[in-house]
Amino acid sequence: MTRLTRFAVAPLHTMTRRLADVASGRVAPNLVISGARVLSTYTERVLGHREVWITGGRVAAVKPAGAARKIWRDVPLYDAAGGIVAPGLVDPHIHIESSMVTACAYAEAALLNGTTTIFCDSHEIGNVMDVAGVEAMLEDARQAPLSIFLTVPSTVPATSAELETAGGDLTPDKIADLFDRWPEAVALGEKMDFVPVTLGDERSHAILAAALKRGRPVSGHVYGREFVAAYAASGVTDTHEAIDRDIADDLLDAGVWVFLRGGPPTTPWHSLPQAIRTVTELGASHKRTAVCTDDRDADDLFLFGLDWVCARRSKLVYRRSRRGRWVRCMALRGLAWRTKSAGLAAAAAPISC
Ligand SMILES: [Zn+2]
Repeated sequence: MTRLTRFAVAPLHTMTRRLADVASGRVAPNLVISGARVLSTYTERVLGHREVWITGGRVAAVKPAGAARKIWRDVPLYDAAGGIVAPGLVDPHIHIESSMVTACAYAEAALLNGTTTIFCDSHEIGNVMDVAGVEAMLEDARQAPLSIFLTVPSTVPATSAELETAGGDLTPDKIADLFDRWPEAVALGEKMDFVPVTLGDERSHAILAAALKRGRPVSGHVYGREFVAAYAASGVTDTHEAIDRDIADDLLDAGVWVFLRGGPPTTPWHSLPQAIRTVTELGASHKRTAVCTDDRDADDLFLFGLDWVCARRSKLVYRRSRRGRWVRCMALRGLAWRTKSAGLAAAAAPISC
């Protein structure tokens, strides 16, 4: 039996003829999910009386209910019993090590919560074990039944030698090497040293260059209005610290994506209500926002996953703006943007989309 991992599904470029044959009704699908309503994230509608045709681990087509059995009497059916079929959730910014578990263990909780793709930054283990730690995480991630992409740790060590004894020193050359050897390295991770970036520090900008010259997005982490302009000018494409109204305003107008971070109410990661209040009160478009989890204790993985964050967001936004469009799978926008930027759209989440 084939182990179900991201690599168990053949690349799209090898399957286009087969998918076209199935979608056209010339070849039977492997499986039909019947009795379903389908959430279309393209048109933001729930479509009734549909069935989903699947082949080779990919969705070949969404058809009117009953279409498959009119052509093939014996095609395998799975009755969704009126449930909603939706794309998997995408978490654009997380740190697996914060949960003190391996990638495979993390995948178990994430999948149960409906998350099928994550973009993780392994800077915690990078701080302890340098490249060897990051690569150990990547090797483990390849065994997981979850699409796991790496945003390469950008700020290791995280502080100076006077403040801590770090086990890692990820230089621009080491970061460039990680990009070149690991195809799942699709972006630069949380560039936390926003002061050196703003001041034009040579090493910080060499690390930015390692990502930018390969066409990779750059994740950020900034706080302070005085830093936003230089940060955006340096190629940083997102941040998840935007609870202050003025900073959020500056970030959005500078073209920086804002990831709204949700977490358990008793933890420091519970900035979602304030972040939503901020963006809503600004009257800003939601188009360049997404939700993320960032960090989770292992105990909170099941109860406070990305599905919980989406649900919280839904309640908060309805309460504040009564504009339903706000709540539609914003995390998916983050995925589309990142993978398109990285030229990896076909590789992302083949099982879920
Ligand atoms: Zn983070």
